[in-house]
Amino acid sequence: MTEIAPTDAADCPGCGKPMPLCVCPALARVENAIEVLVLRHPQEQDKDLGTAGLLCRQLARATLRTGLSWPNLAKALGREADPRRWAALYLGTARQAPAPELGPLVVVDRDGMPLSDQDQARAGISGLILLDGNWSQAKALWWRNPWLLKCRRLVLNPQAASLYGNLRREPRRDSVSTLEAAAQALARLEARPELAETLAAPMRLLLRKYRALAPRRPRPDRRRPRRR
Ligand SMILES: [Zn+2]
Repeated sequence: MTEIAPTDAADCPGCGKPMPLCVCPALARVENAIEVLVLRHPQEQDKDLGTAGLLCRQLARATLRTGLSWPNLAKALGREADPRRWAALYLGTARQAPAPELGPLVVVDRDGMPLSDQDQARAGISGLILLDGNWSQAKALWWRNPWLLKCRRLVLNPQAASLYGNLRREPRRDSVSTLEAAAQALARLEARPELAETLAAPMRLLLRKYRALAPRRPRPDRRRPRRR
C-alpha cells in the first residue's frame, strides 16, 4: 500500500490545496459587505492545513498579502482606506475573558477592555483585518504594523472550540484558525449567522480528508504551537 503524502502532490488550481486534499466541492461564494484583509506572515507555509487562502477564495471582497510590515493600511490594501473604519482582529484576548453575554465578537479598547456600547463600537465598520500565522508570527505582525492601532480592535469570544482539534497544539483555548476567526467575525458584523458554517465548510472537508489520508500518522511537530 502506498502512502499518499499530500505535500508532495500538485496543487489544485481551484482551491490551492494539494490534489488529495482538494476542497473545491465545499467552497462557497460569499458576497461579503465587510471587506477582508489578511496579512500573512512570510513563514506561514502550512500548505496542507493553512486556511487564509480558503477564506479569501470564498469571499467576493478579500485581499491576501504576504509580508512582515506595511507603512499604513492603504499600502497594505493597495488603495486608500480610513483605518478608523477598519477593525483588526486582535490575537490576544481581552485581559480577562469577556462576559459570555457580550456575544462571539467583542470590541475592546487598547487595554483589551470591552467598550461599554458594543453596538456603537461596531457601527460603521467597513473592513476586517486578520493576521495569519502561528502565535509568535501573528504577534510579530501586530508589533511591526503600528498603524493597526488606528483601527478598531476586536477579540473573539468563542463559543466553540476550533475544528483543528488535536491536529494542532494550540496554546490558548480561544485559538481558532484564520478562516474560523473571519467566519465568526463576519457572521456577527454582517448579522448573517449562517456565514460561520458556510465559510467553515471547506475546512471541515479539508480536515476530514487530511485525517483519512494519515489516520495513524501524527502530524509532524515541525512547527511551533500556532494560534491560527
Ligand atoms: Zn480543489
